[in-house]
Amino acid sequence: MLLDSAHFTLRGIPLLSFLLGLTFGSFGNVLLCRLPKNRTILGRSACPHCRKKLRAWELIPVVSFLLLRGRCARCSAEISLRYPLVELTSGLLFLAAFLHEGAFGFSTILLMFALWLLLLIALCDLDTGLIPDGLNVPLVICAMLFTFFHSGVMLSGISLALFFFGGQWLLSRGRWIGSGDVILGAGIGALLGSWTAVLVFLFLAYVSGAFAASVFLLTHRKTTADTLVFGPFMAIGAMGALFFGEAFVRLLLLR
Ligand SMILES: [Zn+2]
Repeated sequence: MLLDSAHFTLRGIPLLSFLLGLTFGSFGNVLLCRLPKNRTILGRSACPHCRKKLRAWELIPVVSFLLLRGRCARCSAEISLRYPLVELTSGLLFLAAFLHEGAFGFSTILLMFALWLLLLIALCDLDTGLIPDGLNVPLVICAMLFTFFHSGVMLSGISLALFFFGGQWLLSRGRWIGSGDVILGAGIGALLGSWTAVLVFLFLAYVSGAFAASVFLLTHRKTTADTLVFGPFMAIGAMGALFFGEAFVRLLLLR
């Protein structure tokens, strides 16, 4: 009996991680709506169209969207597909963090929180072109604690990232990249720990950024005069390096 319940607990953790991620994703949607406008994060969400306050059953991540078929219950205004997608992504990131750590400990919670912050940073940069310190600074702290609990003090990742992005920022006096990108780079460097992982991160960030830029140019969605925000590609590169970095290096070295 005791063994049975222990077994159930272990098997239930991936699902619980996913559900926790969904909930945090929902909270992330609220933060992304309100932080750039300096609005309080307290108080119940409302339909942006008719201002109707949402009832409890309309606040369940993903499920409410499906029940409402993507429309407000009162005014039938379309609810952006982005809300359930952010919730789902957050759920999958929490699950990935659990699978990466292989257990539910303090380092898993730190990794979940760091990945959640990376998601919000990427979206906030897309929306506003700015990365608030309110997201960046917690990421740096969380990432340093994560690496510390994982493998002791590791400064090679954060040093390389700071040297790379800080150098660009100084050389261009903030024209090539913003100070927000430098702090984000430091956070990612701290999270990845080793300089090899940071090299994989830089490679993936620049390749995905260049790929998106060429798609935008070819489809005439943007002209060269437009600047493409870099935060989302840094987040993509960081996640790629974290989850697939070792496999990537092995592939390159053909080992
Ligand atoms: Zn409405």
